[in-house]
Amino acid sequence: MATIFTKIAHGEIPSYKVAESEEFYAFLDINPMVEGHTLVIPKNVENDYIFNLDDRTYLGLCAFAKKVAVAIKAAVPCKRVGVAVLGMEVPHTHIHLVPLQSEQDLDFRKEKLQLSQERFRQIADSIRSEYEKL
Ligand code: AMP
Repeated sequence: MATIFTKIAHGEIPSYKVAESEEFYAFLDINPMVEGHTLVIPKNVENDYIFNLDDRTYLGLCAFAKKVAVAIKAAVPCKRVGVAVLGMEVPHTHIHLVPLQSEQDLDFRKEKLQLSQERFRQIADSIRSEYEKL
């Protein structure tokens, strides 16, 4: 059975899309630590542990995440974009990209932001438009 993230990547479940390539997809985390918290996934590889990916998919995912991080940095006020990989919840490899003002912004235990649909849309649009310039 397809994972929730495969369904998102193929448009069967809605998401706030940030960027897409033939093999990879980036969208806003629905429970963000900060505005601009983004997830990056392979569209068609459901391996649930990043270090079990084949090298080609792993390197492609990292290169795609790098480009998305550049777009996030341009769109969201932050000092840098932090990276984390957990995969404790969803069994489909995903990289968290989190715009940071301080190290406290990357804390999975803290209360998540509640954003309106309109705000999610605005953030996704602004990251996507930066991505399209790259
Ligand atoms: P983890 O597997 O521990 O890296 O956590 C999974 C992440 O996916 C969490 O930060 C969730 O908020 C996020 N998430 C789960 N379902 C969705 C969804 N439908 N859309 C966007 N983000 C999601």
